[in-house]
Amino acid sequence: MHPDSRLQPAVAADETVSRLRTVFVTGLTRPVSWRRAQLRALRDMLTEHQAEFAAALHADLGKGATEAHLTEIGFVVKEIDHTLRHLAPWLRPRRVSVPLTLAPARARTVREPLGTVLVISPWNYPLQLALAPLVGALAAGNCVVVKPSELAPATSAALAHRLPRALDPSAVAVVEGGIPETTALLEQPFDHIFYTGNGTVGRVVMAAAARRLTPVTLELGGKSPVVVEPGADLRAAARRIAWGKFMNAGQTCVAPDYVLAIGEAATGLEPHLTAAVREMYGTEPSASADYGRIVNDRHFDRLVGLLGGGRLVTGGEHDRATRYLAPTVLADVDPQAPVMSEEIFGPILPIVRVPDLDAAIAFVNARDKPLALYAFTASRHSKRRLTAETSSGALAFGIPNAHLSVPGLPFGGVGESGVGRYHGPHSLDTFSHTKAVLDKPLRPDVLRLAYPPFTRRKERL
Ligand code: NAD
Repeated sequence: MHPDSRLQPAVAADETVSRLRTVFVTGLTRPVSWRRAQLRALRDMLTEHQAEFAAALHADLGKGATEAHLTEIGFVVKEIDHTLRHLAPWLRPRRVSVPLTLAPARARTVREPLGTVLVISPWNYPLQLALAPLVGALAAGNCVVVKPSELAPATSAALAHRLPRALDPSAVAVVEGGIPETTALLEQPFDHIFYTGNGTVGRVVMAAAARRLTPVTLELGGKSPVVVEPGADLRAAARRIAWGKFMNAGQTCVAPDYVLAIGEAATGLEPHLTAAVREMYGTEPSASADYGRIVNDRHFDRLVGLLGGGRLVTGGEHDRATRYLAPTVLADVDPQAPVMSEEIFGPILPIVRVPDLDAAIAFVNARDKPLALYAFTASRHSKRRLTAETSSGALAFGIPNAHLSVPGLPFGGVGESGVGRYHGPHSLDTFSHTKAVLDKPLRPDVLRLAYPPFTRRKERL
């Protein structure tokens, strides 16, 4: 809880939601000028209080200031700027052609806000994953309830304190809390629920939404593989993999979960991964200001339990008191090992060796569809095969995690990795209803031919 908010009583979920629903009906959030003003105010909040948010992210996750800026605060600012720049064309009604049999007539689609939406966010990027969906929801003209993660309490408190002061408090509310508070929210009538987190809770959210037929977006996780072919530049690949994996101490939904190394690439990668970790975090990563900590004891104990899954290439050191777990690479990992059976969500990188690309593709396709699939290959043929023969939320060659920062690309999963997508124009799709509008003049009444009785003559026409 933010120090200034201590005296404010908690407001019941039903009161908050019914207040926002009443406001939505007044039309307050519909004008584009209101939406733009909210987005600009959100941007100002982030830039004016950047230090406060960075401190909260450091308190929750040991995140360094630069990483906090790149992956959280600055990330959302860029999403706001992109949205402000393109909002007018995104909102423009689109003309649709009318079949000759209905002419003369005009058809178009118009976007309308859904109403009051709920955004439930997780602890690992606690600012980005609360605010990036909020940007889309506001741009589409909705009232919004934001429920930050209780496992990132400092960021949750900062958002609860700042958002209602920066934005229109009659249309945006922050509800802090854990399972009881979220459960109470899920009982309320929303027009859309946007959830980011794990698949178990994703199912709880979807079941609650089903009771009212509320549409959902589920941004989930899973194991995102990295295929590495021996012909790739292994030194450069190792650096990119280490960067994507050990950012935020591996607690990134799109982080490379494991490496599927083809043939010689398995042993070839090992020294380069060790060197990349040393280049980025030094010989003692626990002393690096750029290396994060594990969010809580439960996750720390779970991760330490996965360390025995293979031959240690680098890392393995850990300290429960500070929840430090060194950037770790495991080789010769058995596909049946526990480290290969759950999403790792921490700084442990297993290398699984497969004989060829066929085996790599079969390995990916035998498991849940990943949120992201990465590949390092010098072969255009391999790229074509991976594109055509696998399914994942995203596919990226040569770099992990970075597809998130291309605002024109949809971000979301498929199958077990999620339902729906957002970012840029895709957020507008998620948080709007695309309404079909048809306008046909009453004269000339060419439809006379379609009215009964259906005489022989009409049938011939
Ligand atoms: P978390 O524990 O913070 O939970 C997420 C949200 O769900 C929180 O707001 C929490 O209060 C709420 N919640 C938890 N249990 C609940 C319950 N029983 N009923 C209702 N609400 C409940 O975060 P997490 O789930 O541990 O996050 C990590 C997971 O999220 C990983 O699987 C990761 O891959 C995934 N993730 C996905 C994305 C994405 O964009 N696709 C981004 C980040 C994380």
